[in-house]
Amino acid sequence: MRFLPAAEAAVAAGLVAPLQPLFHLDALWIQVAGTLCNLTCTHCFVSSGPGDDHHALMARDEVRNHVADGLALGAKEFYFTGGEPFVHPAMLEIIEETLEHGPVTVLTNGTLFTRERVTTLARLAAASRYALELRVSLDGPSAAEHDRLRGPGSFERALGGGHDRQQPGRGSSSCPCFSSDVRSPAAVATSPPRP
Ligand code: SF4
Repeated sequence: MRFLPAAEAAVAAGLVAPLQPLFHLDALWIQVAGTLCNLTCTHCFVSSGPGDDHHALMARDEVRNHVADGLALGAKEFYFTGGEPFVHPAMLEIIEETLEHGPVTVLTNGTLFTRERVTTLARLAAASRYALELRVSLDGPSAAEHDRLRGPGSFERALGGGHDRQQPGRGSSSCPCFSSDVRSPAAVATSPPRP
Protein backbone atom coordinates (compact mmCIF):
# COMPACT_ATOMS: atom_id res chain seq x y z
CA MET A 1 0.00 0.00 0.00
CA ARG A 2 1.28 3.48 -0.83
CA PHE A 3 0.82 6.39 1.54
CA LEU A 4 0.94 10.06 0.71
CA PRO A 5 4.48 11.45 1.06
CA ALA A 6 3.53 13.41 4.17
CA ALA A 7 2.11 10.27 5.80
CA GLU A 8 5.18 8.23 4.83
CA ALA A 9 7.39 10.90 6.36
CA ALA A 10 5.33 10.84 9.55
CA VAL A 11 5.60 7.04 9.80
CA ALA A 12 9.36 7.23 9.12
CA ALA A 13 9.67 9.78 11.91
CA GLY A 14 8.04 7.33 14.28
CA LEU A 15 4.82 9.26 14.65
CA VAL A 16 1.79 7.16 15.46
CA ALA A 17 -1.68 7.94 14.22
CA PRO A 18 -4.31 8.57 16.90
CA LEU A 19 -6.47 5.58 17.65
CA GLN A 20 -10.25 5.85 17.56
CA PRO A 21 -12.04 2.83 19.01
CA LEU A 22 -14.99 1.46 17.09
CA PHE A 23 -18.10 1.82 19.22
CA HIS A 24 -20.64 0.83 16.63
CA LEU A 25 -21.17 0.56 12.92
CA ASP A 26 -23.95 2.33 11.06
CA ALA A 27 -23.33 1.22 7.49
CA LEU A 28 -21.46 -1.77 6.14
CA TRP A 29 -19.80 -1.58 2.70
CA ILE A 30 -18.98 -4.86 1.01
CA GLN A 31 -16.76 -5.09 -2.08
CA VAL A 32 -18.74 -8.09 -3.20
CA ALA A 33 -17.34 -8.34 -6.74
CA GLY A 34 -13.74 -7.75 -5.73
CA THR A 35 -12.00 -6.15 -8.69
CA LEU A 36 -13.98 -7.96 -11.36
CA CYS A 37 -15.82 -5.67 -13.74
CA ASN A 38 -17.10 -5.78 -17.29
CA LEU A 39 -15.75 -2.29 -18.01
CA THR A 40 -12.25 -0.84 -18.02
CA CYS A 41 -12.81 2.77 -16.99
CA THR A 42 -9.74 4.97 -17.20
CA HIS A 43 -10.43 6.51 -13.81
CA CYS A 44 -11.15 3.32 -11.86
CA PHE A 45 -9.65 3.83 -8.43
CA VAL A 46 -9.60 0.10 -7.66
CA SER A 47 -8.12 -0.89 -11.05
CA SER A 48 -11.00 -3.22 -11.86
CA GLY A 49 -11.58 -4.90 -15.17
CA PRO A 50 -12.67 -8.05 -16.98
CA GLY A 51 -10.88 -11.08 -15.59
CA ASP A 52 -9.05 -8.98 -13.03
CA ASP A 53 -9.48 -10.83 -9.76
CA HIS A 54 -6.47 -9.57 -7.85
CA HIS A 55 -9.17 -8.91 -5.28
CA ALA A 56 -11.44 -11.94 -5.59
CA LEU A 57 -15.22 -12.21 -5.68
CA MET A 58 -16.67 -12.84 -2.25
CA ALA A 59 -18.30 -16.20 -1.74
CA ARG A 60 -21.93 -16.08 -0.65
CA ASP A 61 -21.06 -17.50 2.77
CA GLU A 62 -18.41 -14.86 3.22
CA VAL A 63 -20.90 -12.10 2.46
CA ARG A 64 -23.40 -13.67 4.84
CA ASN A 65 -20.77 -13.75 7.60
CA HIS A 66 -19.80 -10.12 7.03
CA VAL A 67 -23.43 -9.07 7.19
CA ALA A 68 -23.82 -10.98 10.45
CA ASP A 69 -20.68 -9.33 11.85
CA GLY A 70 -22.00 -5.93 10.78
CA LEU A 71 -25.35 -6.56 12.41
CA ALA A 72 -23.60 -7.52 15.65
CA LEU A 73 -21.82 -4.16 15.55
CA GLY A 74 -25.06 -2.29 14.93
CA ALA A 75 -25.03 -1.87 11.15
CA LYS A 76 -28.39 -0.65 9.88
CA GLU A 77 -27.76 -0.47 6.15
CA PHE A 78 -25.69 -2.36 3.60
CA TYR A 79 -23.86 -1.24 0.49
CA PHE A 80 -22.49 -3.47 -2.27
CA THR A 81 -19.81 -2.38 -4.66
CA GLY A 82 -16.95 -3.81 -6.71
CA GLY A 83 -15.80 -4.04 -9.39
CA GLU A 84 -19.26 -4.39 -10.82
CA PRO A 85 -21.58 -6.16 -8.35
CA PHE A 86 -23.71 -7.68 -11.08
CA VAL A 87 -20.84 -9.76 -12.47
CA HIS A 88 -21.28 -11.79 -9.28
CA PRO A 89 -23.26 -14.91 -10.24
CA ALA A 90 -25.12 -14.91 -6.90
CA MET A 91 -25.78 -11.17 -6.64
CA LEU A 92 -29.56 -11.48 -6.67
CA GLU A 93 -29.49 -14.09 -3.93
CA ILE A 94 -27.09 -11.95 -1.90
CA ILE A 95 -29.41 -8.96 -2.24
CA GLU A 96 -32.40 -11.06 -1.26
CA GLU A 97 -30.70 -12.39 1.85
CA THR A 98 -29.35 -9.02 2.92
CA LEU A 99 -32.73 -7.34 2.46
CA GLU A 100 -33.94 -9.47 5.35
CA HIS A 101 -31.73 -7.38 7.64
CA GLY A 102 -31.84 -3.83 6.37
CA PRO A 103 -31.86 -1.43 3.43
CA VAL A 104 -29.55 -2.38 0.57
CA THR A 105 -27.82 -0.08 -1.91
CA VAL A 106 -25.96 -1.44 -4.94
CA LEU A 107 -23.45 0.73 -6.78
CA THR A 108 -23.43 -0.36 -10.41
CA ASN A 109 -22.29 0.80 -13.81
CA GLY A 110 -25.79 -0.09 -15.03
CA THR A 111 -24.69 -2.05 -18.08
CA LEU A 112 -25.70 -5.55 -17.01
CA PHE A 113 -29.44 -5.19 -16.46
CA THR A 114 -31.41 -7.74 -18.39
CA ARG A 115 -35.17 -7.60 -18.21
CA GLU A 116 -35.21 -10.77 -16.11
CA ARG A 117 -32.74 -9.29 -13.67
CA VAL A 118 -34.73 -6.09 -13.25
CA THR A 119 -37.96 -8.03 -12.85
CA THR A 120 -36.34 -10.06 -10.08
CA LEU A 121 -34.97 -6.92 -8.42
CA ALA A 122 -38.42 -5.37 -8.51
CA ARG A 123 -39.86 -8.50 -6.91
CA LEU A 124 -37.22 -8.48 -4.19
CA ALA A 125 -37.83 -4.79 -3.49
CA ALA A 126 -41.58 -5.30 -3.29
CA ALA A 127 -41.22 -8.28 -0.97
CA SER A 128 -38.91 -6.57 1.50
CA ARG A 129 -39.84 -4.12 4.23
CA TYR A 130 -36.49 -2.47 3.57
CA ALA A 131 -35.53 -0.28 0.63
CA LEU A 132 -33.47 -1.51 -2.30
CA GLU A 133 -31.62 1.23 -4.15
CA LEU A 134 -29.53 0.97 -7.29
CA ARG A 135 -27.04 3.74 -7.92
CA VAL A 136 -25.96 3.88 -11.54
CA SER A 137 -22.74 5.76 -12.16
CA LEU A 138 -22.80 8.41 -14.88
CA ASP A 139 -19.75 10.53 -15.59
CA GLY A 140 -21.46 13.16 -17.67
CA PRO A 141 -24.71 14.14 -19.31
CA SER A 142 -23.70 12.89 -22.74
CA ALA A 143 -22.32 9.74 -24.32
CA ALA A 144 -19.25 11.68 -25.42
CA GLU A 145 -18.34 12.62 -21.86
CA HIS A 146 -19.32 9.34 -20.21
CA ASP A 147 -17.84 7.00 -22.83
CA ARG A 148 -14.54 8.89 -22.86
CA LEU A 149 -13.92 7.39 -19.40
CA ARG A 150 -15.98 4.21 -19.48
CA GLY A 151 -15.73 2.96 -23.03
CA PRO A 152 -17.83 3.14 -26.20
CA GLY A 153 -21.50 2.38 -25.75
CA SER A 154 -21.44 2.39 -21.95
CA PHE A 155 -23.59 5.54 -21.65
CA GLU A 156 -26.32 4.07 -23.82
CA ARG A 157 -26.20 0.77 -21.97
CA ALA A 158 -26.34 2.49 -18.59
CA LEU A 159 -29.48 4.31 -19.69
CA GLY A 160 -31.11 1.11 -20.83
CA GLY A 161 -30.51 1.29 -24.54
CA GLY A 162 -28.21 -0.49 -26.90
CA HIS A 163 -29.71 -3.92 -26.23
CA ASP A 164 -32.39 -5.73 -28.19
CA ARG A 165 -35.21 -3.69 -26.72
CA GLN A 166 -36.00 -2.59 -30.24
CA GLN A 167 -36.80 -6.17 -31.15
CA PRO A 168 -39.46 -7.37 -28.71
CA GLY A 169 -39.96 -11.08 -28.64
CA ARG A 170 -36.51 -11.80 -29.91
CA GLY A 171 -35.21 -13.04 -26.63
CA SER A 172 -34.80 -12.44 -22.98
CA SER A 173 -32.10 -9.82 -22.88
CA SER A 174 -34.18 -6.72 -23.46
CA CYS A 175 -33.01 -4.01 -21.15
CA PRO A 176 -35.21 -1.99 -18.84
CA CYS A 177 -35.36 1.74 -19.07
CA PHE A 178 -33.43 4.08 -16.84
CA SER A 179 -34.01 7.76 -17.12
CA SER A 180 -32.06 8.99 -14.14
CA ASP A 181 -28.97 7.97 -12.28
CA VAL A 182 -30.75 6.63 -9.22
CA ARG A 183 -33.90 4.58 -9.56
CA SER A 184 -35.58 1.96 -7.46
CA PRO A 185 -36.02 -1.40 -9.22
CA ALA A 186 -39.78 -1.07 -8.89
CA ALA A 187 -39.67 2.27 -10.66
CA VAL A 188 -37.37 0.89 -13.31
CA ALA A 189 -39.55 -2.11 -13.95
CA THR A 190 -42.67 -0.01 -14.40
CA SER A 191 -41.12 2.79 -16.47
CA PRO A 192 -42.61 3.29 -19.89
CA PRO A 193 -40.28 2.55 -22.79
CA ARG A 194 -37.95 5.37 -23.70
CA PRO A 195 -38.73 6.96 -27.02
S1 SF4 B 1 -17.45 0.41 -13.71
FE1 SF4 B 1 -16.60 1.05 -11.72
S2 SF4 B 1 -15.46 -0.73 -10.98
FE2 SF4 B 1 -15.81 -1.04 -13.18
S3 SF4 B 1 -13.94 -0.28 -14.18
FE3 SF4 B 1 -15.48 1.39 -14.12
S4 SF4 B 1 -15.04 2.57 -12.26
FE4 SF4 B 1 -14.00 0.56 -12.08
